[in-house]
Formats: sequence, C-alpha cells, structure tokens
Amino acid sequence: MNIAFCSSEVVPFIKTGGLADVAGALPLKLKTHGADVRVFLPLYSLIDYRKHKIKKSPGIADFYIKVNGKNHAAGLFETVFPDTDVKAYFIDCPDYFQRETIYSNESDEAERFICFCKGVLEAMQRLKFSPDIIHCNDWQTGLIPLYIKENYAWDSIFKSTKTLFTIHNIGYQGNFPPETVKAGDINPDHFGPMGPIEWYEQVSFLKTGLMFADSISTVSQTYAKEILTEEFGGGMHEILEKRQDVLYGILNGIDYNVWNPEFDDHLWEKYSFDKIEGKAENKKQLMKISGIEFSETVPLIGLISRMVSQKGFDLIIEQIDKMLELDAKYIFLSAGDGKYEKFLRGISFEYPDKFKLYTGSNEELAHRIEAASDIYLMPSMYEPCGLNQIYSLKYGTIPVVRKTGGLADTVIDCDEKKKNCNGTGFVFEKFDGKEMVKALKRAIKVFKDQTRWRKIQKNAMSMDFSWDISAQKYIELYNKIKS
Ligand code: ADP
Repeated sequence: MNIAFCSSEVVPFIKTGGLADVAGALPLKLKTHGADVRVFLPLYSLIDYRKHKIKKSPGIADFYIKVNGKNHAAGLFETVFPDTDVKAYFIDCPDYFQRETIYSNESDEAERFICFCKGVLEAMQRLKFSPDIIHCNDWQTGLIPLYIKENYAWDSIFKSTKTLFTIHNIGYQGNFPPETVKAGDINPDHFGPMGPIEWYEQVSFLKTGLMFADSISTVSQTYAKEILTEEFGGGMHEILEKRQDVLYGILNGIDYNVWNPEFDDHLWEKYSFDKIEGKAENKKQLMKISGIEFSETVPLIGLISRMVSQKGFDLIIEQIDKMLELDAKYIFLSAGDGKYEKFLRGISFEYPDKFKLYTGSNEELAHRIEAASDIYLMPSMYEPCGLNQIYSLKYGTIPVVRKTGGLADTVIDCDEKKKNCNGTGFVFEKFDGKEMVKALKRAIKVFKDQTRWRKIQKNAMSMDFSWDISAQKYIELYNKIKS
C-alpha cells in the first residue's frame, strides 16, 4: 500500500508540538507494517539542510506552483529518516517558506499552505508516486482532499487515491478571508453560505479537510467523542456529526527509542524500574542547576508545554499561591504566550528555591525534566491526545491530569484508599483550579509513602503505548477507506 503522509512539521527536521512527534514516528512504523510510506513537508529555511543531508531529488526538474494567480519557483528536495530507508520529501518554495518562523500571522499565511497542498500533489506527479492513501494532518493540509477530488482529478495517477484527514487539535482551524477562494483556485460555488469550505464568511482549511476527506480521524477515542459536542467541537461539532460514520479515534503512540529512560542519552543517569535509584540522580542534578535544594522526601513537580490557555495555565496562575504552600518544588519548561510567561517569571524570581521557569524550546531539558520530576502536571482544558503524560508514565513520573481527551484514555486514577491500587496517576474531572490543587495534594500525600509510590511507578512504567499498536490500527483504517 502506498501512503503519502503530509504534515507541516516532522521530527527530526522541524517541530513546534506533538504533531511533529507523530509525523516523525508513525510513518516509520507504517513502513515496518509493509506500507510504502513517503513523508511530505515544506522546506522551511529554518531546517538544517546540512545536518539532515537534504539534497535535491535526483531527476526532478524545478517547477512552479501557482498561488494567487502567480507562478512561484519551486523544487523538490529529499532525505531519509535517520537509520531508516523512509523518505522525507521537502517542498521548496522560497517565496513562502523562507521565513523566521514556521507559522505566522502574516497576511499570506493561507497562500503558504495553499502552496504546500499543491506542492505535495505536484511532487507526487513528478515522482510518479501514486498513493492509495494521502494521510493529511491538521488544517495546513486541509485543501489536499479537495484538490484531489477536483483540481487534480484529471491525473490518472490519483485515480484510486483516497484521503484521511487527522485532527490533532480542532482549536486550530486555518480560517482566512474570502480572497483565499481565488488565491487557492477553489471552485467559488463551494463558498456560498454553508458551502463546504465556508465558515462564518471565511474560508476554513480545517472545514475543507473535514468535508472533502474520505475519512476523518483524531488522536484519541475520548477526543473523537468530545469533538462531537458543542463544548469541545470548536464550532465544528455539527459538521462532524454529519460525518460521524467515517470518524475514528486512534490514540497516538510514543517512540520508545526516543522516550525511554533506559536509553535516553540526554539524562545524567539512565534508569529503569529495577534501577530506579538513577531517577533520583537526575532529580539531584536538575535541581542543582536550577538552584533549588534537593530533598528525597519533597516531590519535584515538572511541566513541559506550549504556554497556551488550552494547557491549563489559567488554573496554575489562579492557584499559584496554594501550589506554593504545598510541600513540593516546581520546574517548568514552556514557550508561548507572553502574559503567562511574565507572571511565572515573576514567581520564579520571587521564590527561587521553590519554583523555576525555563523558557524557550529545549529538547534536552524536556527529557531531563521528565526524568528528574516525581510528579508531572498536565491540567489541560482539552487535550486531543497529549504526549507528555505518556512519556511521564514511562519515566516513572506520576502524572496529575485533568480527565479529558487523551489524558482520560491514558492515565488511570489511583484510589489512594486502596493499599494495592492499580492506578498510574491522579485524575481530576472539572476544569477547576481547586480540583487541580486537590489532585496535587493527593499525589503528594501518596508520595510520602514510598512503598505505595513505587507500586504506582511500577504500574505506570509497565504501560505500553508504543506505535506498533496504533500503526496497526491505521493500517486497518487505510484498508477500510480503500475498500
Ligand atoms: P501539543 O502538540 O498540544 O503541544 P503534545 O503533548 O501532544 O502537545 O506534544 C507536545 C510535544 O512538544 C512534546 O513532545 C513536548 O515534550 C514538546 N514540548 C512542548 N514544549 C516544549 C519546550 N518548551 N521545549 C521542548 N519541548 C517541548
């Protein structure tokens, strides 16, 4: 089976969030399940060409991509994922991808991803790659299902191509002004009121994907149900309801070659459940460099996240005084919204022995915080899947999470009254600061009883969320879509 996997970010080339982790791991697993999978992404100037040995695709002459009535010079580049023969193809179009950030608020943001969507199809034509499935991910790829059915339908190479559109986060919709219809060479009939691409008088790339894809999936079973409701559907719940018969939830896996304390080269000391002492060494070292005094009996609470309201920062800010009263220390790594950063920076400055905020994006530090922390905090307002709570389980770092989306599907609440509970974390239901603090208190209390804590760590560390299981489910879904 030929699979074209299209994503605006892919590990190890370029990443802002979980989408990149998925796009860098799932295709490799699909390959081991027998699929001929090729990954497509834009050639942002931010990508390190040399490090990744990215070269011009042999035999493919430069071409043009028509966007907004103008032909833009384009080309195709390629490399293989490290230690594999899975190919990644990069759509080069300097007019649109030579920028300082991957995503932007610039006025031509829609054009950038029109360019990517067309570029992917132009590339496949030149590669003579006839995909059975084009697996599209998030709004940046939302026009592909439409283009396949209309603008490129003339090409027999796409004669039996079907599309799957995966929602990684329905909060990001790619809604743009009406001029986008013309810029994207889209049939204007689709833009009438309630038309398949129209969204409150704008063109929605997400809605286009949802309307034109043969099948839709999202990244956990609970989120697949949640997005059918007004509360979580980002306004799209009625559209999804109409497409419910082709909507699936498949939990993301994690790459245990990258996120595994036994082999993690970023750590000061590698460890496993049987050598759990190594975890304390990581805690010691991280606290030392963070200027916080180490104590075996006081838990370290970690958090790694984009700093956006979705991730529950409003609860943290509201409850920060109560959190600081708890017998715990905090180390957070986060990048994003200025208002949260300013506030938490102030706390870090005021309570240097209790709370440390690292800002920016730092892969090594992310691994170290996972290993060093005793408790991992993830109080999301909504969470399509969430990866860090799954990494935390593997690192014996007990998650405290809100019961939503993928968090509900991956963390089992501990009943601390039971001596021998089979839980893997502490779960609270309502998106409410006091509930979050209560859950933290429950975790801290159990932490003081190390025998019980070890049992919970053992439960957590033996969970298996590897990509093998999820990749198999995707293969089954691809087959279903094809048939
Ligand atoms: P989302 O995709 O909504 O950001 P996920 O939990 O699915 O959330 O994935 C987040 C990914 O990004 C994880 O791999 C996490 O470790 C990583 N990450 C988030 N913030 C940072 C940061 N500041 N530095 C390094 N990695 C980060």
